[in-house]
Amino acid sequence: MADTTAKTTYSKVFQKAYDFTKADEIKEMGLYPYFKPLQATDGTIVKIEGRDVIMAGSNNYLGLTNDPRTIKAAQDVIKFYGTGCTGSRYLNGTLDLHLELEEKLAVFMNKEACVLFSTGYQTNEGSIQTIADRNDIIFSDKDNHACIVVGTQVSNAKTVRYRHNDMDHLRNLLAKADPDAGKIIVSDGVFSMSGTLAKIPEMVQIKNEFGAGLYLDDAHAVGVIGEGGRGSASVFGLMDDVDLISGTFSKSFASLGGFLVGDRTVIEYIRHKSPAHIFSASMPPANVATVLKSLEILQEEPWRLQRLEEISTYMRTNLKELGFNVWSSQTPIIPVVIGEMMKCFQFWKDLFEEGVYVNAVVPPAVPRGQALVRTSYMATHTDEHLDRILDAFRTVGIKHGIIDKNGKSLID
Ligand code: PMP
Repeated sequence: MADTTAKTTYSKVFQKAYDFTKADEIKEMGLYPYFKPLQATDGTIVKIEGRDVIMAGSNNYLGLTNDPRTIKAAQDVIKFYGTGCTGSRYLNGTLDLHLELEEKLAVFMNKEACVLFSTGYQTNEGSIQTIADRNDIIFSDKDNHACIVVGTQVSNAKTVRYRHNDMDHLRNLLAKADPDAGKIIVSDGVFSMSGTLAKIPEMVQIKNEFGAGLYLDDAHAVGVIGEGGRGSASVFGLMDDVDLISGTFSKSFASLGGFLVGDRTVIEYIRHKSPAHIFSASMPPANVATVLKSLEILQEEPWRLQRLEEISTYMRTNLKELGFNVWSSQTPIIPVVIGEMMKCFQFWKDLFEEGVYVNAVVPPAVPRGQALVRTSYMATHTDEHLDRILDAFRTVGIKHGIIDKNGKSLID
């Protein structure tokens, strides 16, 4: 049982930690699905608790985390630059490698300039905080990622949240807003839980109508979808109409870090003003080299994006045919709705026993009663992996009364 009494140096500030017993309760039931250590991985197969299971919950979309070329790129630069930068980009932490990556990403994304951050989280939090100030209004989708939400909270701007992907609501809010205020619309390009695309053509129209800026967080889109992997706006041929696009290196680019691209003047402003950029150490050399290599592979091996799209369509179609509700997924992120939280944990455990790892997502990340398991796919999954994942879903789905044997959904 959890210890609920605060110990020696008692301060009321710690009591909440002792009161937090939910995780322990779920652990005691043997259903806790979080913080599971991976003991080994080749990308698609991971060892957890001594068993080999198929990874169907990673953001390693292009399957490059274990590619011999990315591994070698990381090893090579460590010999030359060492293991860390021990300083921020502003001061002693800029390497020529950082500049090379910024230049290459700006060219790839067809924007004037790029600034790197040490994580995707910091990229959005730090950029939004900096670009919007007390005279501005941020219009933010209700389902935006936490780092955007925090960015709006720490900025001095007023923030207005519009209903998820509801363009009428967005337009009404802009129409009501102070016409003299600076305005910026901020949205995930691909929503991380549902795998849905933002309504970018409508957003561009609205932004033009009201003279607003448009900022897209393309963490799940650059290196995943669009022309050559250029992300959500490129799906619609609208790259030039989006002012700022951010991305992460912790997914398709097999590393850690993030970036923002846009007009040079705006990027230089953010580079000089963003606390997350100035007061945090820069990306270590191995991380940068991995991204440079991944970017090269992305461009040289277009089959990876094609295969990813083919896999996404295959899994979406087949999960639906089995009777599962996959929400409105349009990308390699495919959620499967389970229902109540405890049922979701039990479902997660049974899938794991069947040899498949997915991610359990429960309230408040999703609405109450809509707990889900989030699946996501990689270009390196084989057909056999995919069919084993589908078999496991079928077995566990029937066991839990979510689907029947004829492909009918048994839940709302
Ligand atoms: N934005 C979105 C939409 C994300 O899903 C994530 C990570 N899950 C991030 C930003 C943060 O990226 P990072 O992991 O690089 O901090």
